Amino acid sequence: MLHGKLAGTYDEVLRRNPGETEFHQAVLEVLSSLEPVVVKHPQYADAEIIRRLCEPERQIIFRVPWVDDAGQVQINRGFRVEFSSALGPYKGGLRFHPSVYLGIVKFLGFEQIFKNALTGMPIGGGKGGSDFDPKGRSDGEVMRFCQAFMTELYRHIGEYTDVPAGDTGVGGREIGYLFGQYKRITNRYESGVLTGKGLSWGGSRVRTEATGYGLVFFVDEILRTRQDSFDGKRVVVSGSGNVAIYAVEKVQQLGGTVVACSDSSGYVVDEAGIDLALLREVKEERRERIAAYVEARPGAYLVTDASIWDVACDVALPCATQNELDADAATVLARNGCTVVAEGANMPCTPDAIRVLAEAGVTYAPGKAANAGGVATSALEMQQNASRDSWTFEHTEQRLAAIMSGIHERCLETAEAYGQPGDYTAGANIAGFTRVADAMLALGIV
Ligand code: GLU
Repeated sequence: MLHGKLAGTYDEVLRRNPGETEFHQAVLEVLSSLEPVVVKHPQYADAEIIRRLCEPERQIIFRVPWVDDAGQVQINRGFRVEFSSALGPYKGGLRFHPSVYLGIVKFLGFEQIFKNALTGMPIGGGKGGSDFDPKGRSDGEVMRFCQAFMTELYRHIGEYTDVPAGDTGVGGREIGYLFGQYKRITNRYESGVLTGKGLSWGGSRVRTEATGYGLVFFVDEILRTRQDSFDGKRVVVSGSGNVAIYAVEKVQQLGGTVVACSDSSGYVVDEAGIDLALLREVKEERRERIAAYVEARPGAYLVTDASIWDVACDVALPCATQNELDADAATVLARNGCTVVAEGANMPCTPDAIRVLAEAGVTYAPGKAANAGGVATSALEMQQNASRDSWTFEHTEQRLAAIMSGIHERCLETAEAYGQPGDYTAGANIAGFTRVADAMLALGIV
C-alpha cells in the first residue's frame, strides 16, 4: 500500500500510461520501497525526483519494414525508450519477441535505471526492441531485419548518448548485424555504440557468460552469509537461453547440481545433472526445442503440462521471462524446502509470489540486483573500448565477481540502514534509487 505523495505518483503513472500493465507493476514494486526514503530525504520530493523518474526522457517508436525469404514485405514495430541519463549514457538491451510492446519496453527500461545505478558504474537506463519473432526465421531474414531496425535506430544512439546491447532474442549474431549496419551508415568504427560484440571485433571476454555467472556469484554471497555454499545443492533453472545456460555452468563449477531447465515448450528433468554441452548444442547451435535434449540423453524426461517449479530444489533461478513464477509456484517451492529464489530474468516473480516467499521465509533476490552482472560487464566492455584495450578472461571474471559482491553488500547495508535487515528488495530499490536521485539533484531540473 502506498501513502500520500507516492500514492499520487502511482495514480498519475496509471492514468498517463493506460494498458501498460508490466510498466505499472515495475513502478509499483520500486515505489513500495521508497516510503522511508522520502521521509528521511524530503529534498527528493521537493525536486519531484520520483515523478520525473517515472516519465522517460525520450520514447522512440518506429516502423521496421523488411522483405522475408518468400519476397513478402513484413512490417514490425521498433522501440527505444531512453529512460534516464542522470548517471551516464542510456544503457540497456534490445528485446526481439512477439510480446514486445511499449509497456514491456518501459518496464524493462525503468528497472534498468535502478539496476545500472546499483552496479556503481557510469551508465543511465534505457531499453528497446521489436515485436519481431526470430523463431523459425532464416539467418538472412534475421540479418535483413536487423539492418532495417538499425537504419532507423542509428540516428538516436552513440557511445556518449545511448548504448544498446542484447536481451531476449538478441545475441551475438544480432549485435553483429546491427553493428555492421551502424558502421555502414555512419562510416565510423564506433566500438562503444553497442555492447555484446564478438571477441574479434571489440567485444569483451565474459560478456556472454556475465548475466548467468553474476547471478550465481550473487547467490553464492547469499549462501555465504549463512556459512553455506553451492556444494551439494539441488538447483532448478528456468529457461535455456543465454542467462540460463551460463547460470547452469557456474552452478556446476561451484559444486551444485542443476536438475531441470526449460523453454517455452516445456521443461526437462535430468536427475544426473544437466549435460551442459548437449544443452548448448541443442539451444545455441541447432536452435531447437528442448525436446531434442531428452532425445539425446538417456534418463532425462520432458514435461509439457506442469510447472518447472514443481521440481523440488534448494535454490530456484528463474531465468526465462517476466511473471513466470506465480504465488502457486512460490507456495510449492517453499513447501519443497527451497531457501533461495534469485531472479536471472527481469521481473520473473509476480508480486503475489514475492509476498508468499517472504511469508515462508524464503530469501528472495530481485533481478535488478541479482542479474546486474550482464549490464555491469557491458560497462566493462565500454571501458575496454574507450581505452582500446582487451582484458583477459580471468581479469574480467574477477571484476564481475567483485561487482556482484559489491552489489550484494550495498543491498544488505542499505536494507539495514533503513530498518529492514536482510530485505534484498528494499536494499536494491533504495540503494539504486538514492544514487540516481542524488545525481538528479546535482544536475538541476532537466
Ligand atoms: N539486457 C540485459 C539486462 O537486462 C543487459 C543490458 C546491457 O548489457 O546493456 O540487464
